[in-house]
Amino acid sequence: MKNSLPLQSMKVATSASNMLVKQPSLIKSTCAYCGVGCGVDISVKDNIASNITGSIDHPANFGKLCVKGSNLLKTTDLTGRLLVPQINNKAVNWDKATDYVASKLNDVIKKHGKDSVAFYVSGQLLTEDYYVANKLMKGYIGSGNIDTNSRLCMSSAVSAYKRAFGEDVVPCDYTDLECTDLLLLTGSNAAWTHPVLYQRIERAKKIKPAMKVVVIDPRKTATCELADHFLAIKPGTDAAFFSGLLCYLDENEGIDHNYIEQHCEGFEETIATVKKWTITEVAQYCDLPVEEIKSVYKAFCQAEKAVTFYSMGINQSSSGVDKCQSIINCHLASGKIGREGCSPFSITGQPNAMGGREVGGLANQLAAHMDIENPEHQEKVQRFWQSPTISTKQGAKAVDLFDKVASGDIKAVWIMATNPMVSLPHREKIKKALSQCELVIVSDCVDSNDTLDFADVKLPATPWLEKNGTVTNSERRISRQRNVLPPAGQAKHDWKIICDVAQRMGFTGFEFNHVSDIFKEHAALSAFENDDERQFNLAGLSNLSQKDYDELSPIQWPVKEKNTENANRVFFDGRFSTPSGKAQFVAITPQLPITQPCTRFDLVLNSGRLRDQWHTMTRTGKAAELSAHTDKPYLYIHPEDARTRSIQNDNLIAVTAKTGQVIVHAKIDENQRLGECFMPIHWNKEFASHANVSELYQSIVDPISGQAESKQSAISVKKMNYSSYVNVHIDTFVDANIEQKTLMSPVHTDLINNNLQYRVSQTADFWIKSTTSYGKNYQVAVKESIDDPLLWCKNVSGLSGEWMYFNHKSTSYIICLSTGKLTFLAYFSDNWLDIESQWLSHVFSQESISFATIQSLLLGIASEDFCQGKQVCSCYKVGEKKIITAIEQGCHSVDDLGRSLKCGTKCGSCKPELANMIKQHALTINTKVKLSV
Ligand code: SF4
Repeated sequence: MKNSLPLQSMKVATSASNMLVKQPSLIKSTCAYCGVGCGVDISVKDNIASNITGSIDHPANFGKLCVKGSNLLKTTDLTGRLLVPQINNKAVNWDKATDYVASKLNDVIKKHGKDSVAFYVSGQLLTEDYYVANKLMKGYIGSGNIDTNSRLCMSSAVSAYKRAFGEDVVPCDYTDLECTDLLLLTGSNAAWTHPVLYQRIERAKKIKPAMKVVVIDPRKTATCELADHFLAIKPGTDAAFFSGLLCYLDENEGIDHNYIEQHCEGFEETIATVKKWTITEVAQYCDLPVEEIKSVYKAFCQAEKAVTFYSMGINQSSSGVDKCQSIINCHLASGKIGREGCSPFSITGQPNAMGGREVGGLANQLAAHMDIENPEHQEKVQRFWQSPTISTKQGAKAVDLFDKVASGDIKAVWIMATNPMVSLPHREKIKKALSQCELVIVSDCVDSNDTLDFADVKLPATPWLEKNGTVTNSERRISRQRNVLPPAGQAKHDWKIICDVAQRMGFTGFEFNHVSDIFKEHAALSAFENDDERQFNLAGLSNLSQKDYDELSPIQWPVKEKNTENANRVFFDGRFSTPSGKAQFVAITPQLPITQPCTRFDLVLNSGRLRDQWHTMTRTGKAAELSAHTDKPYLYIHPEDARTRSIQNDNLIAVTAKTGQVIVHAKIDENQRLGECFMPIHWNKEFASHANVSELYQSIVDPISGQAESKQSAISVKKMNYSSYVNVHIDTFVDANIEQKTLMSPVHTDLINNNLQYRVSQTADFWIKSTTSYGKNYQVAVKESIDDPLLWCKNVSGLSGEWMYFNHKSTSYIICLSTGKLTFLAYFSDNWLDIESQWLSHVFSQESISFATIQSLLLGIASEDFCQGKQVCSCYKVGEKKIITAIEQGCHSVDDLGRSLKCGTKCGSCKPELANMIKQHALTINTKVKLSV
């Protein structure tokens, strides 16, 4: 029964009728999520992956994990998994699927040429997967048409590094963040997007309070908790801010002329273009106070060491490359590069975006940091691969690639480990492209997502916990991602799927027996005739035995010698990878975002990640613990913008742009600038009827990098009116329809979930789903009132059992019991009604509930003991009410709260929020004291 077998145990136990591979009781691997690349230790006990902790000895995290990493094992069950290959939704064996894909690709190429096929891959792939995909497309099919979802994340940073340094090299590591004097965080909410790095910075600042932290962002985010200065910059004006900094350095003896003389080119032309960016001009353009700008410029000018840490807020722009360049220009000009605590540091979003960059996973790269349009490099790579051909020109970049699918130039597309229907801008356009494409092949580990709806062929791939290979994090550190479980069902590793297809297409060069053989080839190519031309060099790893590979410890490149433990600092000698060996200044002209508000679409939209969710929620959406912090895709809106539109908290609002519309809840948020809104990127049709933010973005891209402008759209916002709002809670883990309630197999759970979702979507005009400890919560709105709520509940749930209801005015409270156990609860009203989630978790977990509890449920009144308000600390499930009480009783620091309630003492992801609550409530207490005096 559910109480006697913990859910997680059930998940893993049922997942492996497959037995575990022989292995020790502790397996070292790497987190599946962000570019920090934290090491994890997975305990395996009684053939079950029973526990996960941060690896104490991993140089990225030294034992820490954020809330997403800590909950990884809660996301690995077999529900929703794709386990069998399918052609046109019919299960087939691998032999047939591989033959089908190979022959179809060959047919298309024969008929329409090599550029009529494309691969769209992902920063979720491991380096070895990426390597063979790139090899097949560029060396054997002979086209450049392989691009990756990392295009949407950091391709502008890549282009700027390449333009400035001659090579895509991140010139620093995480320790630089700790030993710098001044840290500028721009276009990054690191507290939520790269939490473990943020905590490293936080600790460093605690030890060295003189270290200054500046946050430059249109939103006042959790990251600002650490900031000495917060500059609420006008969206998209960062290039002007950094051009102003360069101008200030020039006028205030902040230029390192010696460094420039010896190691750089293009300074004079560049400095001439920034003269106009006086502080007054920057203040006006960026909408910032003069004094704040002056004090940050002065701090940069006077700091011995400075790091600029930037991410998607800079990259996702129609002029992202120039924005990155404007940052690099300041570091080159002041000589704050190539030495400890100094650097322009682009942080990657995905776990293996950097690995993709190494193998040439972008359409404008070749492999091993060689240039796709350089004939010498083409010849070198082809000779190394002994391949029949080589791509000689850039392929189509992500947005362009799907445009070519839409126009029919690309007739077959193979999508691997990514969900472009959700992540690419202008969803309608992508939908049109995929629906008319001749052949859509999708390799994925899930059996349903927005993109799989269009797949002619579905290939089951292994997910994290089953995959085996390497990933590279933001500081160029290669770590092993080790398999803990064998592939479930018929799932195969991505590299194996690709190699099998390549061989069936008739190509030699893909006869790898083990993933380590691919890694060795990749390492050997990086060193092949390198002659110090490229910093990316893994010569020391090119002869690893399989055992060495299996045991490989995290290592940062370049690795020129075997047994190297620490890489030399790159560019320490001022020698760059350009033909002259000198870094390049580039004069840029700051540009505003192309999409600007107008009379019809009068608000600016920004978007990004939440603290506890990842990408399209394929994994994180499965963990109740990760839904508790934010269970809905709110639109965050400034109080004045809400007031003028008669919008209140939690109202459903229609958000409309030129390209489409979403419907979400409103969250009034004074951290927004007036006229600007924010929406999370995560929700899609698996979790909500109308909440995919890509509906609202046009496919506008940077002309150099091809990265989409996903940080600015123009929207209008309007309150929606519905007749009925229904909050549904349902236990989907036990089969309540049979006398003896039993835990269900993943297949059975899938069936229940799919049927439930189908019935909800058929009857609702709006719905959102979240995962709870007992199953699912649906929030539903309908335009026409529901005449018979009880019948609606019976039809939607499909449950038989003991139904009870209570009607009061326009509100109905309905529950269903199965042999005394609560299996279903719904509240109908003309406004949103809900009940304390902690209490519901408790009640749903009871095998039999008391009459008093039934009464409370039917009155919608939770037990006081469980009323904690919004959950702030996901690790120890501490709600805001308890925290506020503790603050009022004298906890005046995050450490005090930790000692009293344990909140913030495990993963630490909630610490910025705790600090903010202390500030807010300390203020309230002070005001009360003053008033009473
Ligand atoms: Fe994973 Fe969190 Fe570390 Fe990122 S910071 S790698 S999400 S544990």
